[in-house]
Amino acid sequence: MNRVYNFSAGPSMLPLPVLEQAAREMVCYGESGMSVMEMSHRSPDYDAIIKNAEALLRKLMNIPDNYKVLFLQGGASTQFSAVPMNLIKRTGKADYAVSGQFSGKAFKEAQKMGYDVKCIATTKDDNFDHVPTITRDMIRPDAAYLHICFNNTIYGTKYGYIPDTGDIPLVADLSSCIISEPIDVSKFGVIYAGAQKNMAPAGMTLVIVREDLLNYAEEDMPTMLEWKTMAENDSMYNTPPCYPIYIAKLVYEWILGLGGLEKMQEMNVAKANLLYNYLDSQDYYFAPVKKDSRSLMNVTFVTGDADLDKKFASEAAKAGLKNLKGHRSVGGMRASIYNAMPYAGVEALIAFMKKFAAENPKA
Ligand SMILES: *Cc1c(COP(=O)(O)O)cnc(C)c1O
Repeated sequence: MNRVYNFSAGPSMLPLPVLEQAAREMVCYGESGMSVMEMSHRSPDYDAIIKNAEALLRKLMNIPDNYKVLFLQGGASTQFSAVPMNLIKRTGKADYAVSGQFSGKAFKEAQKMGYDVKCIATTKDDNFDHVPTITRDMIRPDAAYLHICFNNTIYGTKYGYIPDTGDIPLVADLSSCIISEPIDVSKFGVIYAGAQKNMAPAGMTLVIVREDLLNYAEEDMPTMLEWKTMAENDSMYNTPPCYPIYIAKLVYEWILGLGGLEKMQEMNVAKANLLYNYLDSQDYYFAPVKKDSRSLMNVTFVTGDADLDKKFASEAAKAGLKNLKGHRSVGGMRASIYNAMPYAGVEALIAFMKKFAAENPKA
């Protein structure tokens, strides 16, 4: 069976060379005589893997020395709880910008725990078709942090700028755009990301946290959610997500081999431009996101007719273009074109879109 072009928002495509290397090493890793999945996380072989993964990521993202890199479990959603529990004690209150479903969930989670949290900006009234413009004066001066979701996976929007928060730590969910382009880590207090969009299989969550922010954890919080404990134990307080970390290491090597995040960005921009330029050049499909908020990773579009949208997704799947159905909460179509999606995949999608438009004239 041939591999398809998989436009899933997550879990999503992994680079073929990474899968092939993992397959070669599946049963016997190096001289270890066993699979990575069967190794003690305390063994020298595994120690080299996790240390290497961190070193490669530091190089790839140019992570400053005063930041800790944590490989955790629980998904990005667990960090919705961990963020306030680790940080709110700094001042006792925190601000959130709500630009879509995941940032809304993060906000609600902090609210649910009874914390003093405020939504300082939202684009909900515009169906999240763009990201908010955040200026420093909107943030409470005594906020412990400002939380944003940098790339909104469901709506296909992305911040085209890093909000200036002054001395207030910026906390960002980068689940769906991590390692897609260079980003200045020093502008953030905390970055977190579930791995399954652009980095590895599901099961690993990356947290990058500035060291001075490790000192505000709630005293009675669950140890497993406490970044400081995880940092002091090099992500090995308990068993880490061993296999996803190993795959992440292969992904980091793959990107570095291609030329790093500058090259990745060049490739991602080329793919996204190809698709957006096509969308802008015709009137059968409509891209609802405002141009200055367009995501490089998740491209949303509709025909304007829910039945046609449905037909599109099902016929595309038959043509080897899978998972183009939009998120169940918004409908329409969504093409997730993460790092591992080849340029040819986007070309194939556009060819299919043209054919579908010609064969399905609107009433
Ligand atoms: C997918 C996603 C999440 C949820 O991730 P889980 O790992 O499933 O908890 C959170 N935020 C963003 C931006 C996402 O894309």
